Amino acid sequence: MQQQLRRNKLRLGDLLVENKIITAEQLQAALIHQKQTGTKIGQALVTLGLVTEEKLHGFLAQQRRKVRIGDALVNEGIITEEQLQKALAEQKKTGKKLGQTLAYLGIMPEQKFLEFLSQQLDVPFVDLKQINISADIFQKIPETMARRFRAVALAEGADGILVGMADPTDIFVFDELTRLMKRPPRVAMVSESDLLRVMDRMYRRTDDIREQAKALGEELGDASFSIDQIVQSEMVVDAPVVKIMQSLFEDAIQMGASDIHIEPDETLLRIRQRIDGILNEQIVKEKQIAPALVSKIKLMAGLEIAEKRLPQDGRFNMKVRDRTVDVRVSTLPTQYGESVVMRLLDQSSANLDLDRVGMDAYILRRFRYYIERPHGLILVTGPTGSGKTTTLYGALNALNVAERKIITIEDPVEYRLNRINQVQIHAKIGLTFASVLRTVLRQDPDVVLVGEMRDRETAEIAIKAAMTGHLVLSTLHTNDAVSTAIRLVDMGAESFSVASALRCILAQRLIRRVCRDCARPYLPEEHEQILIQGMLGQDSPDTSRMLRGAGCSQCNQSGYRGRIAAIELLEVKGELARALSRGDTGGFIDVARQQRGYVPLPHAAMQFALRGLTTLEEAMKLTTELDDPEEMAEAAPTTKPAVAS
Ligand SMILES: [Zn+2]
Repeated sequence: MQQQLRRNKLRLGDLLVENKIITAEQLQAALIHQKQTGTKIGQALVTLGLVTEEKLHGFLAQQRRKVRIGDALVNEGIITEEQLQKALAEQKKTGKKLGQTLAYLGIMPEQKFLEFLSQQLDVPFVDLKQINISADIFQKIPETMARRFRAVALAEGADGILVGMADPTDIFVFDELTRLMKRPPRVAMVSESDLLRVMDRMYRRTDDIREQAKALGEELGDASFSIDQIVQSEMVVDAPVVKIMQSLFEDAIQMGASDIHIEPDETLLRIRQRIDGILNEQIVKEKQIAPALVSKIKLMAGLEIAEKRLPQDGRFNMKVRDRTVDVRVSTLPTQYGESVVMRLLDQSSANLDLDRVGMDAYILRRFRYYIERPHGLILVTGPTGSGKTTTLYGALNALNVAERKIITIEDPVEYRLNRINQVQIHAKIGLTFASVLRTVLRQDPDVVLVGEMRDRETAEIAIKAAMTGHLVLSTLHTNDAVSTAIRLVDMGAESFSVASALRCILAQRLIRRVCRDCARPYLPEEHEQILIQGMLGQDSPDTSRMLRGAGCSQCNQSGYRGRIAAIELLEVKGELARALSRGDTGGFIDVARQQRGYVPLPHAAMQFALRGLTTLEEAMKLTTELDDPEEMAEAAPTTKPAVAS
């Protein structure tokens, strides 16, 4: 009995230490006090002023609740005692929450657990995916606090602010929030993963950027500063500039932006981010900060700061929130100053997985089949921003094993990959695609990636390499798969060589995906019905699954989140290869259209729309673009690399 009691006493003290309510030293002091006075450990702590009575009671209540929720699940027959014990054992190892542990073990989905918990605690459950939060309300809790406490302000009413908490039983967070808001908040329960995502969307850095720009603008004075003065006074303005840079990058990473554009205009500075292929703009009034910002970027990228009449290219690494982002910088002199575009490349190889390109299962299987052949030419086509770089790197990543030698010839090298020999093109000193490719073939490679086939010479060497035991991957700036083969012949390659080297052509485009959190059924209007029918050549296509995003906090009110790849795959074999070999363009096109599994890009996009993955507008945008090849040619500068997305 005595022993049992002692163990209990010890446990409370240990629990308090474990939960960082008191330190181990404080516990020792309390234990000594307890020995001297014979009081309970809790009382000893309160007497010594190490913890308030309120806090202690709150903690005990919380501990009881923790025990109860697991038992309650068992009592209600939702989980078995064995499952609970298994989860508790796992929880001890990982330190994760019970709900997450149960979900991880596949015992019950987290959402179900949260709903049950909210019932037990008599706290409402709020589905963050379903609500819109105003930015004003959200700002009631500063970001650092919100992140530490896992709590966000959701709404304000006469009876206080409604706060969504990942753990509504957390008394200490409740105390802190009460102090912050000067009255106890109303509490709702939210899913932790949704909470983290909402925080990323809502705590934008735009306000920080505006304020930092203002501060720097004041420091710099009027716009009459010359760039040399700014470079000379660099020590003075460096800190605020670094702050703006940090905010810019944090915001871009949070928003999943692929590029940051810094564009000085006549009277203002424009900062734009490309998110899911679409530019988002922020206006900064302090135009005079532009030269300081641009100088800092140029300095970081190792460019000539004083050279402002010529375009320059460079790159640097930046650490943002524990992630290393590779930044490729391009500057361009414009009428109101230098414009800078920074492309952000996340170097984690997880992004270079073929499965993440968003290919249809059949196409992915066929594409994998071809890249695993020992030789042949595989082409991936599409304009800048079509995601073809991601597809090609994904293929390289899949092939990258010790038994294969892989060499790439790129302009520029986008991602750095282990074990792969990557060569940067440098035309000025004679390192062209053709010259490097010739050398590379003497290096005994198994796989060669040729960044782009721009000229006849490169095409001819690549075709020859593909016919002599190498797997060659490359890109061409063409509209679709069918025109790619024809273009290759038009470039001057022999049609029978093209036919025997070429294995498959993959043409792709990225289209925006309907936000899954605010998707609503969409009933197409009559003229839209006719349009879909005409395009697919079907009498009454099933439009019952079509969706459109209403706009929510998860998608920045755009109704879209993320992108999917519309892909057209043409396998060059059989009758198709024979037509190509004869140089019979018309026959080639006819056979291509009948090939099994061949779905033209506009059809692929329209199928996505019918399946509710994208909207009719997005699908139509692609069709319009394909109908206007001149636009495509303009949008496809041959010196620009493909964009990873
Ligand atoms: Zn949404």
